[in-house]
Amino acid sequence: MKIGIIGAGQLAQMLAMSAYQLGLETLCFTDTKDVPAARISPLFIGSIENPNNLEKFANEADVITFENENIDINLFKRYTNKLNPSLNALKISQDRLFEKHMFEKLSIPCAAFCEIDSIGSFSNVQFPGILKTRRLGYDGKGQVILRSHDDVPDAWESVKQVLSIVEGFVDFEFEVSQVATRNKKGKILFFPLSKNQHKHGILRLSKAPYNDDDLQKQAQLYTQKIMRHLDYVGTLCCEFFVKNGKLLANEIAPRVHNSGHWSIEGTNCSQFEAHLRAICNLHLPETIMVKPSAMINIIGTMPDNKKLLEIEGLHFYDYGKQARNNRKLGHITICSDDELDEKIKQTRV
Ligand code: AMP
Repeated sequence: MKIGIIGAGQLAQMLAMSAYQLGLETLCFTDTKDVPAARISPLFIGSIENPNNLEKFANEADVITFENENIDINLFKRYTNKLNPSLNALKISQDRLFEKHMFEKLSIPCAAFCEIDSIGSFSNVQFPGILKTRRLGYDGKGQVILRSHDDVPDAWESVKQVLSIVEGFVDFEFEVSQVATRNKKGKILFFPLSKNQHKHGILRLSKAPYNDDDLQKQAQLYTQKIMRHLDYVGTLCCEFFVKNGKLLANEIAPRVHNSGHWSIEGTNCSQFEAHLRAICNLHLPETIMVKPSAMINIIGTMPDNKKLLEIEGLHFYDYGKQARNNRKLGHITICSDDELDEKIKQTRV
């Protein structure tokens, strides 16, 4: 069976690694050959805007999935029978306003928000808040903190006056994410919660399991509601803020997610393997945690892997990208029964 993956970045690279272990083939659609997935998978090189390319690619693939939700839905309408997750899941996750409306509809708590389509709409805003563009925001991009009304003109200018929302600023204690995978029969596999730390809006560290039965239950309940509502097939990540023992949904990603990379060595069936099993209609096993695990992103500069590999239980993933400020170049995973925090400190990444 051949999996067509739209995109050829590090998520496609890790999906392809997992596919190999399941006896599956991959083909990654990209417009350039200098991409992380090139190390692991055959590529289909061409412009996605050319319908002939997509047609040829779709004919070669038995199933189609993607590594990035920001793709043009219209291009894929002809291929819905092969595509998972569905176009509806993509549509909602591409737009923060649609996402918030879904949370409201499903009674999933989230930050208060209001819709912004002109400078006049800021009159409804409560401060402090965060202005976020509805589309194409990630890693803190397309976001501006609003402390008071005085910040509005510059903030509105800096997002180029595109359709946006303002969210109430949440004074949260920490952030967690729930990664889960649902198959075509509706079976859901929940990964343990991971606790996430960001720096300058970019994920730096994820640690799992975050052992809190009550939070885990809330996360599973909300994630299950979303997956059922979307009739979702594949791996999904829900990111939450934690405040006073309660979860507030921040956003969803309809794909494998950076905060789930620890599952490669940390569980019996990683988020990548689970995604492939779900979309290919293969058996989906229960998740078993092998050891407490952490993922540390390598951002901006590449450390010396030789030194790091002296730490027992550490794995080093190099995406093969050019170093650039604030760019995710790779990640480290560490598993350890009782010395996880000590080992995280030793990495000094
Ligand atoms: P996002 O792209 O929405 O995941 O936001 C990136 C990061 O900005 C989050 O992981 C939070 O650390 C922070 N952030 C986003 N929204 C809020 C909010 N409403 N209140 C406080 N911090 C936020």
